[in-house]
Amino acid sequence: MTRNRELGRGERVIPGLWRLRLPLPWPGVPHGNAWAIAAGSGIVLIDTGMHEPGSLAQLERALDQVNLRLEHVRLLAITHAHSDHWGQAAPIVQRSGCELWMHPRHEHAVADAGDPGARLARRLEVGRQSGVPHAALEAYAERAKDAPSGIVQVIAPDRALVPGVEIETDLGVWSVHETPGHAPSHVCLFQPERRLLISGDHVLGRISLYYDYGWTPDPVGEFLTSLDRADELDARLALSGHGKPFVDVHGHIEANRELVAERLEATVTALGAGARNAMEVAPEIYGEPLRSGNAAWLLAQTLCYLRHLELEGRVRSEPDGDAERWSAQP
Ligand SMILES: [Zn+2]
Ligand SMILES: [Zn+2]
Repeated sequence: MTRNRELGRGERVIPGLWRLRLPLPWPGVPHGNAWAIAAGSGIVLIDTGMHEPGSLAQLERALDQVNLRLEHVRLLAITHAHSDHWGQAAPIVQRSGCELWMHPRHEHAVADAGDPGARLARRLEVGRQSGVPHAALEAYAERAKDAPSGIVQVIAPDRALVPGVEIETDLGVWSVHETPGHAPSHVCLFQPERRLLISGDHVLGRISLYYDYGWTPDPVGEFLTSLDRADELDARLALSGHGKPFVDVHGHIEANRELVAERLEATVTALGAGARNAMEVAPEIYGEPLRSGNAAWLLAQTLCYLRHLELEGRVRSEPDGDAERWSAQP
């Protein structure tokens, strides 16, 4: 699909903090954010944008618009190890000589970036578990086998970005808060005096839910716990991984809780007529048919809801050939 590409753009949010809006190749998600924070003679950079042809130039373009350069980066910290947030870490570290800090639970990303075959195999397994017919899986495998990872090169972090670690900037010290659910490696960064929250993809301005499936037992449950954790911080302004900065952080967190509850109820309702597989359930949860473009995403999300409900004792799974069927528990 050909479309007009966005360009990298930089803008000041408050003195000493800049939003770097970077283009993404995904339909419906045209750009993502990195954040630059003044720190002594340079900046702390939070997140990197995704790697694809020309993407480093887009980051440099955004920096240039606010009179910054890659060479100014003193520290690179990552909210979570999805390609659109850390894909360009390697060249940034090489160019600036900075350290890279990231949460240790990034094995999902390392596995994906280092072995595209394994990534595809995991997606196909989601399809099989969901009841997708063999022919459709083969067609998907053919289409997806050469999909780029969005990551230049896997590099190991210099330091684990975990609670207790502090990031010093001209705006004050930022604390680290583990917020898994969207990704096992997700952290939010908080500046308490100014009540600023760098929320990554944990809390977005436009409510949209995504969980990494297959790395932890209950991504939905983790996400809900992480919402409570973010809520307790009582932030005044959220700087999220996509979209504009937003206020009413509590309201956005509450809207996330409501949407999760809605999806869980829709899942149970879809099982009312008897045992079904994820492929049969997903269109009812989301109110749209499965297509080649959305199936991998929606099936993985549906399995996350089903696993959560299973742990709550509200649904039960039973094997059905390669797939699983789910039924509601009285
Ligand atoms: Zn993400
Ligand atoms: Zn993202």
